[in-house]
Amino acid sequence: MKEKNLSLHKATRAIHAGGLKKPVFGEVSVPIFQTSTFSFPNADAGAARFSGAEDGYIYTRMGNPTTGALEECIAALENGYAGMGAASGMAAATTVFLAFLQQGAHIVSTASVYGPTRMVLEKEFSRYGVKSTFVDTSDLRNIEQALQLPDTRMIYIETPANPTISITDIRGAAEIARRHDLLLVVDNTFASPYLQRPFEFGADVVIHSLTKFLNGHSDVVGGMIIAKNEKLYRQIKPVLNLFGGTMDPHQAWLVLRGIRTLPLRVERAQENAGKLAQFLLQHPRVTWVSYPGLPEHPQHQIAKKQMDGFGAMISFGVKNGLEGGKIVMNNVQLFTLAVSLGGVESLIEHPASMTHASVPKKEREESGIGDELVRVAVGCEDFEDLRDDIDQALNQIP
Ligand SMILES: *Cc1c(COP(=O)(O)O)cnc(C)c1O
Repeated sequence: MKEKNLSLHKATRAIHAGGLKKPVFGEVSVPIFQTSTFSFPNADAGAARFSGAEDGYIYTRMGNPTTGALEECIAALENGYAGMGAASGMAAATTVFLAFLQQGAHIVSTASVYGPTRMVLEKEFSRYGVKSTFVDTSDLRNIEQALQLPDTRMIYIETPANPTISITDIRGAAEIARRHDLLLVVDNTFASPYLQRPFEFGADVVIHSLTKFLNGHSDVVGGMIIAKNEKLYRQIKPVLNLFGGTMDPHQAWLVLRGIRTLPLRVERAQENAGKLAQFLLQHPRVTWVSYPGLPEHPQHQIAKKQMDGFGAMISFGVKNGLEGGKIVMNNVQLFTLAVSLGGVESLIEHPASMTHASVPKKEREESGIGDELVRVAVGCEDFEDLRDDIDQALNQIP
């Protein structure tokens, strides 16, 4: 995107940001540069590229024009300094941990953070002496209390968080980070930059699973790290290149294509979600509904401050606990029984019998994930069809 276009609004950015500096044939879509390596015209030019004296590509793990277009697009959407494409959301998260956490370092994170994020810290990074504490970050006092200064180096939050749809005050977390000279990293996957831009509230690094809303079509796994400034970018980029969890150009092209319709998809999905949350709230087989757009959501006011909309993720409780949840899973016809989220099609899952089945019941319930919790990722279908499907499935519960 040309510099002068940086004042454009967010939907226009999603459609226009990220391209080649020089189009090859005037092409409108960014080409897929499916090449592992790039030739140098001569020895001096090769040397100049390696030293950084001359712009240009060397080898796709270090940079590629198609991946570069996607990185530029997402950095523009997030209002960040630069993006770094990763092979998956997990590659993005682990690269950030590798870049900033050394032996003896401590990290504070959201208790209901994406399961594998918690697992990689507790089971893998712990092997290298990195300590982690998981707390309910929707109450900022818990973050403050969990700090182990001077070892704590990072606060890593997910908001909205999976699968409780709880919200953490990004500005409040950033103030704690500033006060103690820590980094604030935000996993912005559930909101997407269309609804929430953590840099505006003081985050230092943002990560995404592109697999979800940004790609939006349930056909790619990918990740992105966005740095607030050049200093952070220079700390992360070599770590990503050396550990090698980088993105493939074809993967980047698919995600860039998906992002062009991000505004349309998110608007539609969240409109459906708002209506579905209202419908569930008055359903006789539903015991509670967690959707940030409902005034009864405990962090509704914070969501209003930091989000442009309330998103498309809902969790709710059903009567008859574990059994009730399974009945809904087994009777939906239009909702697809699958994990993941952010695609055009609506998905449904039951954490107690699926994603969180291996977590001991007590620990699961402490993280707010009871037997009765059902999570839906609302898609872009006609609302009436979604409503009728969930209604008939709920009505199977005795
Ligand atoms: C899916 C997800 C991830 C991991 O992303 P992958 O692309 O599956 O590696 C991380 N954080 C959140 C919030 C997610 O939903």
